[in-house]
Amino acid sequence: MKALYLVVLFLSQVSIAQSEFQKAIASNLKPSRVNLNIKFADSMGNTSNLPIAVLKGKSDGPIFTIVAGIHGFEYPPIVATQALLSEINIEQLHGTLIVIPIANTASFYNRSPFVNPQDDKNLNNAFPGKKNGSITEQIAHFITTEIIAATDVFLDVHGGDACEDLIPFVCYYNNIQKKEKTALARKLSEKSGFELIVSYPYTISNTDPAKYAFKQAVQHGKTALSIECGKLGNVQQENVALIKSGVYNMLATLNMYAEGNGPHKNIIRSNSQSYIKSKAKGIFYSTHKAGDAVKKDEIVGYTTDEFGKIIEEYKAPTNGLILYKLATPPINISDTVMCIGAYADADDE
Ligand SMILES: [Zn+2]
Repeated sequence: MKALYLVVLFLSQVSIAQSEFQKAIASNLKPSRVNLNIKFADSMGNTSNLPIAVLKGKSDGPIFTIVAGIHGFEYPPIVATQALLSEINIEQLHGTLIVIPIANTASFYNRSPFVNPQDDKNLNNAFPGKKNGSITEQIAHFITTEIIAATDVFLDVHGGDACEDLIPFVCYYNNIQKKEKTALARKLSEKSGFELIVSYPYTISNTDPAKYAFKQAVQHGKTALSIECGKLGNVQQENVALIKSGVYNMLATLNMYAEGNGPHKNIIRSNSQSYIKSKAKGIFYSTHKAGDAVKKDEIVGYTTDEFGKIIEEYKAPTNGLILYKLATPPINISDTVMCIGAYADADDE
């Protein structure tokens, strides 16, 4: 009986043992900076690493997480995060910054759009993840159970992927169940300096898989938002600068850091989105660009077969603004051809 008690005691101590990451978060050493590299291995023989920097300011404050590189071909978020890591002075920081400079390192180093080539899974479709799943599912599980759990404000930074044109925007979920968290996400969006603010409807239950990283954080009851900035597998310096100032403006709004150039003077809002999906495989053409205004039923592109015959035409389903679109010729069935955001007013939600 006593032996059993000791075994139970031992197991309970093992289960409450702090992870390397939890130790860094709990540390009283301030200001401080710790760089961690968490290792993962799955049953298919894949291995990967997740770099995490924990920056503790000299005084207490919110825990703010910045994630880049969930899609490893979206470079402006990754390059902007590198600049933030080298610029931010922990002597002037209040609270804690958790920075994941590249969440999907296998996608980044293999130059793979959308998916981790090791298991062919999209990390931004894998949340909440699985502890003993494939390599992508394990990384999603770690971000869910360790990073999001420790976070007050979660910012996931994306851009257009290798084949996507995109207009920069900041976005959040309009979760009416958690009004205060949503209000803070909206305020941070309005202060971010981005001209375009997009809010998505939040309709999942507490048990539905959230799929996306920042939706997972919302489901977890956290304030979460995302920046979409950059396009077409390139590093545009103006988009790097926009992401950086967006982060600085959010940190300034939370009184975590003094730098910031203030909100955009003419904010544009969109709170409903329509998606055009392809039903054909072939060669895609469109003269439209992200940021173009379109009218309902306007033809915005078409697909031909390999001999040049038009096999599908795409019409705008609504008036609005092209938020992002396919911008290279290959097209497959079920590809997102375009996302169109309808205009909204500040008091529409
Ligand atoms: Zn992305």
